[in-house]
Parts: sequence; structure tokens; C-alpha cells
Amino acid sequence: MVKGVQQAAEVTALVEVDWLLQSVPLIHRRTLYKTVTERVLAHGAVAWCLEPTVRIARKLSTIQRPFLLAISGAYRTTSTAALQVILGIPPLHLQLQREARGTALFRLRLPLSTNISDNDPSEIEEKATGWSTHPSEHLSPTQISLDDGGNINTGLRIYTDGSKTERGVGAAFCVLTDVNITHRWSTRLSLRNTVFQAEILALLKAVEHAVSLPTQQLTILVDNQASINSAANPKSHNSIARKIFKLLHSHPHIRVSWIKAHAGYIGNEEADRLAKEAAETENFPETPLELPKSFIKTFLRHKMLATWQMAWDDGDTGRLIHNLIPKVSLHPINWTRNEVLFFTGHGPFPSFLHRFNLAETSFCSCGEIGTPIHYATVCLLTTSYHMAPPSQQHQPIWFRRVANNSTSRRKIHNLLHFLQRETSLFRPDPN
Ligand SMILES: [Zn+2]
Repeated sequence: MVKGVQQAAEVTALVEVDWLLQSVPLIHRRTLYKTVTERVLAHGAVAWCLEPTVRIARKLSTIQRPFLLAISGAYRTTSTAALQVILGIPPLHLQLQREARGTALFRLRLPLSTNISDNDPSEIEEKATGWSTHPSEHLSPTQISLDDGGNINTGLRIYTDGSKTERGVGAAFCVLTDVNITHRWSTRLSLRNTVFQAEILALLKAVEHAVSLPTQQLTILVDNQASINSAANPKSHNSIARKIFKLLHSHPHIRVSWIKAHAGYIGNEEADRLAKEAAETENFPETPLELPKSFIKTFLRHKMLATWQMAWDDGDTGRLIHNLIPKVSLHPINWTRNEVLFFTGHGPFPSFLHRFNLAETSFCSCGEIGTPIHYATVCLLTTSYHMAPPSQQHQPIWFRRVANNSTSRRKIHNLLHFLQRETSLFRPDPN
């Protein structure tokens, strides 16, 4: 933690805010933060940010804040929570906690407390590395074919398929002797498994079945090229694919061919039906299979977004922005700096400047209170930038409508440009 803070302080010192604002577009300033600063801070997060205390969360917020200001170009009084939502950058302690959890699960294989995730790390798909066999050993080109094997009608044929629907995941194969289906196998997987996992499991089960039969001419027909490629690759990262490779390598009489799906081939249609049936039937016997890494990653991201959303909904700062952007997201809103100044209300407006003791009065030189909405709708000095004013009780709706309309936002952008160029015009004459 201490090291991370020191490094962050050094990086902060390097940030020449004015230079950044003038010469690097907002979206690139954001990328710079995500790819450099956040990476430096994430260093070793698993050691100190798995369960960040309130104190650590506050400290990280202090570190993150100057960057949020530099990226957005917002006034220094703008709330951190609002800037995070505008820029699509989560609170730093949540971002680092999510990465720490990922590291704990994937790399260190540590279990997380059960209220975070009921996934035992031993249930997560491990990346297999190195060669599964000696590098000189490959499958012969005749054993694997990516040409349509629909016309193969001699010998034993085994058709495989995997299927994922909203209700479940299923894997199946069936054996065709001449024109008769002589054997069927199918299983259901967890909804958390992918269709690729179903496809590759079906292929493994088909190969294992083929190995158990007396040696004969035999072709396995698969309508999924990805699983064929994976099984034929001795360096595949998928442990099931590696098992298939070893079996095929030691049983060269078993051939694997691609087949076009939904082309009316009876075996392929039957495998498709079996896989769908297993996927759709609730009490169907299930095969436990390791969860794909992608599932856990999505899970941790959702977890982080939910925590951030709760904090945003319950917060007491940035409420004007909460009205415009109620939902947090990892994507920036893409407002210009001028739009940020207008919508946060923290900009060159007498009402704001007076509130923070930066001006003697909150009145505009036209005699009315100088709020953002005043300049956008009624001020005599800004008529060429005007839009229809809201009735008093409809102000939140008015702001939402303006924020969601690109023509209105363009006007706001230009209005702010004008306000910043002609500041003296809007200050009441001191005499
Ligand atoms: Zn005015």
C-alpha cells in the first residue's frame, strides 16, 4: 500500500494539468489514466486491497481525485462521485478490489469469502501450458479434416453437438451404423458453462467412446470448427482439448471431420436434438465442469458495478449529475469540458462563484441570479444561446432533456465558451 501511494504521488507530480488539458483530448487523458496510472496503483493490490478498510478507501479516493479533475477539466469543487460517473471510472478502491479478487481466484487459487462468490477456485478452468506431447508429435493431416464430411457414409460415424439456450447447456453425441442410430449419449452442464465447453466435452466423450470400441474405420463428425482446431492443437490451453489430442494421437484410426450444421444430415440433426433436450430438461443428469474464467470475470465486474451503483444512489454529493446519469457504467459519458462545467453547475456562474466565496455576489450584471439555467434560457446577454425555459418544478426534467439532445448540448458548449471568454461582461459593475 505504502509503495503504491508513493508511486502515485510521483505520477501525480508528473501530471502537468494545464498542459494535459490543452494538448491531449479528454478521451486520451482517460486512456492514459486507465493504462498507466491505474496499472501502477494496482501493483500488489491482492496484498492490501482484497478487503479495503474505510481508511484505505478514503486514501485511494484522495489519490484518484486529482486525476479525475485533470481528465475532465472540471472545477476543483466538483464532487468525486460525479466525476467518476461522468468519466466511467469506478472508485479506485472498488476497481483495485475487483482486480485483487481476480488475482486471488485465478493466480493464487485462494477462496473468497462466500458472500462475494460461492465459487471454489478449484472449480475454475485452469489454463494448461506447455506442449501436451513432444513437439515433434502432431496429428496426421488425414486424421483431421475441416472439409464438409456430410458425404462420409462408410464405417462407423459419431456425431457430436453442444447447445446453450436460456434454460441450460447440453452436450451430446450419437453413433450411426449404416443408417441406424445405435447409441446415444447426452448430459446437461451448468448454465455458467459456455457452449464451447459443451462442444469440446461432447467431442471428448465421443472420442472416449470410439476408443472403447474394437478398432475399425470410424469418423467423428463435428459441426464446430473451434473445437476441432482446439483438439488438433498440441499447445491448446484447454485441458479437455489436450485429453482429446492425446487420445487421437494414440488412436490414429479415429478420424475427426467437420460437418455443415443444419444441412439435414440425420446424425447431426439427432446430436443437435439430444443436446437441446439435455439443455432444456431441468432434472437431466448434470456433468460438473470447471467454470470458464470469463464467467468469473463477468461476475466480479457485475459485483463491482453493483457496489458502485449502491454508493452512487445513496450518496449525498453529485445529485445534479445523479439526475442526469442515474446508472453507473464503465463507459465515459463523452461530455466536453464545457458540458461538464454546465451540468455540474461548477463553472463560471456568479451563483456558483459566490457560493464558494470567489465572487462578491451571486447576481448577474443583468440583475438576476446568475445560475447555469439563467444563461441558457433568459439572460439578456446570452440571447443567441437560448433554449425554452422550464417551469420551476420541471428543472430536473429540463436538464435531462438538454443532456440527451445533441443540438442542445452543442448550444451549451458554445454558451460556456462565450461565458468564459467574456467573464467581465457578467460581473455586476462594482460602482
Ligand atoms: Zn443575466
